[in-house]
Amino acid sequence: MRPEIAQAAPDADPTGALSARVARAEAACARRGVRLTAIRRDVLRLILQADEPIGAYALLDGLRALTGSGKPPTVYRALDFLLAQGLIHRVERLNAFVGCHDEAVHQHAAQFLICHDCGRVAELEDAAVEAAIGAVARTQGFAPARVTVEVDGVCGACQDKS
Ligand SMILES: [Zn+2]
Ligand SMILES: [Zn+2]
Repeated sequence: MRPEIAQAAPDADPTGALSARVARAEAACARRGVRLTAIRRDVLRLILQADEPIGAYALLDGLRALTGSGKPPTVYRALDFLLAQGLIHRVERLNAFVGCHDEAVHQHAAQFLICHDCGRVAELEDAAVEAAIGAVARTQGFAPARVTVEVDGVCGACQDKS
């Protein structure tokens, strides 16, 4: 039996860009010998489809609308997989998730510019930023394990509007 609301809106992916990104993620997983199962793919698609960072509970709602079912542990397990594969990132400040700009790269240092007007998040990928923070931390005798850089501000488009 097919849930009545399983169909995505016809205009959800007019250019096919979303499907192309999901296909690239699927290919990257296949190369690494891991499987982008239906549920993982659905969660990834919901994240990529969202125009701004999306939280776990919004994902749960989206999954239920899409498939007619879904429980929090299912969503969290799918998120763990997608994070481990570097297909998505967690934006700590917002406790929400965004798709990685490059599906083919397996985990990398990322920094985020978070616009507090429109809510959009831009991903930067600058190894020099992480290296600089690491170097400063080590001068304090600190061994950094993970560096999170999130910059709060106003994006170019929102500055143009005002
Ligand atoms: Zn990334
Ligand atoms: Zn903005």
